[in-house]
Amino acid sequence: MDPIDRREFLRIGTAGLLATAAAPAGAAQTPPAIQRRAVLGKTGLRVPDIGFGSSRLDGDEALVQHALARGITYFDTAESYTDGASETTLGRALRGRRDEVIVATKTSCGAATTRQQLMQALEGSLRRLQTDRVEIYFNHAVNDRARLRNDEWSEFAARARKDGKIRFTGMSGHGGRLVECLDHALDDQLVDVVLVAYNFGQDPAFHERFTRSFDFVAMQPDLPRVLRKARAQGVGVVAMKTLRGAKLNDMRPFEAGGATFAQAALRWVLASALADALIVTMSSTDAIDEYLGASGWTRSARADSALLARYESRNGNSQCRYGCSGCAGACPAGAPIADLLRARMYAEDYGDAKLARAALAGAGSRATACLTCSDAQCLNACPHGLPIAELALRAARLA
Ligand code: SF4
Ligand code: SF4
Repeated sequence: MDPIDRREFLRIGTAGLLATAAAPAGAAQTPPAIQRRAVLGKTGLRVPDIGFGSSRLDGDEALVQHALARGITYFDTAESYTDGASETTLGRALRGRRDEVIVATKTSCGAATTRQQLMQALEGSLRRLQTDRVEIYFNHAVNDRARLRNDEWSEFAARARKDGKIRFTGMSGHGGRLVECLDHALDDQLVDVVLVAYNFGQDPAFHERFTRSFDFVAMQPDLPRVLRKARAQGVGVVAMKTLRGAKLNDMRPFEAGGATFAQAALRWVLASALADALIVTMSSTDAIDEYLGASGWTRSARADSALLARYESRNGNSQCRYGCSGCAGACPAGAPIADLLRARMYAEDYGDAKLARAALAGAGSRATACLTCSDAQCLNACPHGLPIAELALRAARLA
């Protein structure tokens, strides 16, 4: 076997390396591909362990086709992603392949949204996706139980199912009230699938073992409980926000243990056994091939934890914790602090100003409150030591 340089090893991952090692001399390298599929609870939907997150997809049909060629057959989108271009791109790219894939999309059902509005939203998504149905329709970014108490969603969903426009429904969430919203949705049997922010930084055990010195508080210690409850009920669980910020490039110098940071983070989720599958935003063919190095893993490698802990120590002071509401009420002007800090992450870490602006779209003038703030009462409001005023101001400048 010809020597494989480190960069190539990182790109193809261990599974690819094993395939390469087994290949006869001179044979073409096996490209990385999905190694495992899982069934999403009682839905019976069979999905790859790593799915295509398309929050940044905007016209690149070849990227979708690259993912398809690698065995990725689960595509997650939303009406709001890239102002609808994500759905439009998927619709074009999946023409002729629709029956081979599972498509999930989302709309936001508020406490007062009507069934007619929901049906209009679904029909808009179906038009952009060039399809007559989606397999999963999520209530997007649910952060308030009042949104789950709106019976219009159930009425709409029953009608849409009867018409064959959706097969299953669910909720997605990453806000401060994620656990109580999940409990509510599960107790009232409102969901077939949940899409939940879940990554190594939300694992109480990870915090206890590796990050005690700089961040003692584990976020949402109840999250594992509620995910176990979902799985016990046969509700499919898909993890998102799996890279904990996706600030990838500054980890390259430390990736000496056989995996990239991204592969270690994805392996952690897959090894947790709390999610059936995960999605990760895919924005380049190289990134797809790198992520596929984690497919098939059901346990973390020995060196992964050290790499993840290093990421946490380097980025913990700018990374707002998913599912945290520790600073709620700290801003007298009502600035949406967690949304602002998430927008900062999108703009600065993902390099995606458009996504950042979309994250602030619903906040109105509160999104720019920091621009004229004179007393920064949010100072010291974050129990994790995040400099809220400074980070929020950077986001407010984008709004
Ligand atoms: S700024 Fe700190 S307290 Fe506020 S949501 Fe983020 S992590 Fe939690
Ligand atoms: S800087 Fe001022 S406006 Fe911005 S979050 Fe802090 S207190 Fe609110």
